[in-house]
Amino acid sequence: MSTAFTTRFAPSPTGRLHLGHAFSAVLAHDAARAAGGRFLLRIEDIDAGRCRPAFTQAILDDLAWLGLTWDADVRRQSDHIADYQRAIDQLRQAGLVYRCFRTRSELAEASLSAPHGRAPVAPSPGPHDPSDEAARLEAGAPYAWRLSLGAALAHISRGAEDIAFTEETLDAGSGPRVVRLDPSLIGDVVLARKDTPTSYHLAVTVDDALQGVTHIIRGEDLFEATHVHVLLQRLLGLPTPRYRHHRLLAGPDGKRYAKRDASVTLDALRSGGATPDDIRRMIGLPA
Ligand code: GLU
Repeated sequence: MSTAFTTRFAPSPTGRLHLGHAFSAVLAHDAARAAGGRFLLRIEDIDAGRCRPAFTQAILDDLAWLGLTWDADVRRQSDHIADYQRAIDQLRQAGLVYRCFRTRSELAEASLSAPHGRAPVAPSPGPHDPSDEAARLEAGAPYAWRLSLGAALAHISRGAEDIAFTEETLDAGSGPRVVRLDPSLIGDVVLARKDTPTSYHLAVTVDDALQGVTHIIRGEDLFEATHVHVLLQRLLGLPTPRYRHHRLLAGPDGKRYAKRDASVTLDALRSGGATPDDIRRMIGLPA
């Protein structure tokens, strides 16, 4: 088994896996096996309010039932908070993050609402006035750490135009392409939330490096977020993997599969008599 090709599946245990997850997991697993490389599993459970240990176990059971095997211990993000704190400290020492005490309603009032979900562009409220910050710190007010995009771009010695990633599209007929970093997709993204000492973007970047991931295979809904990850890799001195963003599967009604669709969970399909090969056929992958 070679580490020259290492990929992963990184679900969040906020519900049962559905056909869309199966597509992503099987694509990554099969790519690793075809390359003689490694397939890793990571549980993205930093959001204590939404994640449930029972879903983690169910995810492992569903993947094993599908016939997937992974090549190292499962990495649970909630066990590795110190790794994310170290990354924040590194960015802090370089002056690339600032504390943001603003509440959602304050951001909304200033027309700086966060975009939906994990998609950029993040609002860029800027640091607080130093005396205001000191008073809020003294009062014990909660704060998030935000990337200072302006400081980050100034910090990069060779300029943002040198930063790029390789997208190896899976669509037949189109080869790999180089995608240049587009800072307009980023903003002052939150790297550590008020309630959690990290964020999706920071944890995913740190973990992919620590796990030695060379190829990231995931849904195209995360394509724009890749710009955030690639910038963080440069700022933290981490390697940039190659990316393969795949299309998102949709049901017969044309809508993307979502966690709320109980009928397309692997659990429901399995109870209805489907076999792992049936699932592979349903997601259009060779059985
Ligand atoms: N945890 C993310 C999700 O469930 C995937 C993260 C990634 O593949 O980068 O959508």
